[in-house]
Amino acid sequence: MARDYYGILGVSREASDDEIKRAYRKLARQFHPDVNPDPEAQEKFKDINAAYEVLSDDRKRQIVDLGGDPLAPGGGGAGGPGGPGGAGPFVGFQDIMDAFFGGAAGGSRGPRPRTRPGADAILRLELDLHETAFGVEAPITVDTAVLCTTCSGAGTAAGTHLATCEACGGRGEVQSVQRTFLGQVVSARPCTVCQGYGTTIPHPCPTCAGDGRVRTRRSLTVKIPAGVEDGMRIRLAQQGEVGPGGGTAGDLYVEIHERPHDVYSRKGDDLHCRVTVPMTAAALGTRLTIKTLDSDETVDVKAGTQPGSTLRLRARGVPHLRGTGRGDLYVHLDVRTPTKLDADQEKMLRDFAKTRGEEVAELSKQGGFFSRMRDAFNGHA
Ligand SMILES: [Zn+2]
Ligand SMILES: [Zn+2]
Repeated sequence: MARDYYGILGVSREASDDEIKRAYRKLARQFHPDVNPDPEAQEKFKDINAAYEVLSDDRKRQIVDLGGDPLAPGGGGAGGPGGPGGAGPFVGFQDIMDAFFGGAAGGSRGPRPRTRPGADAILRLELDLHETAFGVEAPITVDTAVLCTTCSGAGTAAGTHLATCEACGGRGEVQSVQRTFLGQVVSARPCTVCQGYGTTIPHPCPTCAGDGRVRTRRSLTVKIPAGVEDGMRIRLAQQGEVGPGGGTAGDLYVEIHERPHDVYSRKGDDLHCRVTVPMTAAALGTRLTIKTLDSDETVDVKAGTQPGSTLRLRARGVPHLRGTGRGDLYVHLDVRTPTKLDADQEKMLRDFAKTRGEEVAELSKQGGFFSRMRDAFNGHA
């Protein structure tokens, strides 16, 4: 007659793995020999452990559900030889620790997987303003780990398999028992023979030496959307490093670096540039043709424009990355004072000043010390 493992833990036949674990922990805390020295409690504790051993193992639980008893001699087969979770004196010890320390003790249970997710990778991409503004399909060269095609990530040579680690029996960890005030404390450390995998590779794949991945250089095209800014990152899902054992690749981040432009400086989506106009044009007003990023614009400079004035060309800046529209282009006007006046020009300007009642002292005729110094250094500026 098979034992009622569900009844021992007080759970239904439909109980989830979590419910089983919770029930087990609760009972283990109650009946652990260190807590409850009653001989009956010790028997009960053994039953609880047996029930948990069976119900926490899918294969054994299935035997129970089919009316068998996986722990009875010949009752459906005890744990496979050395397989993970196989029957043995250590089964359940970690769970006892979990029952007392809320699962925090001893770290993760069982062997660690050979296949693990890969790391993200980052790549710097230099673009000029025109490319960040309007987008570009940029070719990039990526240097990452990729899946080993010889073994498809398994790490084993063709026709060979992983072997259960003999040092730890496939558990990936070696346990030691210490006596403390709490009673016996079981601590586990990763097995050094298999590095905690629980398995070894007797015949590693010759291409990747068992890692399941190889480093390689490949070319990709990354689509840069219009309006990206310096420092932004474009994420290419699963184009990063393939993980050990051929694990899912991490993401690749392409970080945008915008080269400084000769003419425009960028602030957000607005652009700024400087244009020099002669004093006369600033005074009289003029019409300028401004080369924007993607067009030629004619703008009027009003008569009487002062140095440092700004013209704003709406929507001639960088397109917004999100949504529609563009930033503006600000044209900062520098007014240039004429430097080399001939005699006629000078006379006209003096007459002009006179008509406006502006007083102008005649430096050049005085031929003063500073005037001569200036001519000597600046070549008659
Ligand atoms: Zn390989
Ligand atoms: Zn081992």
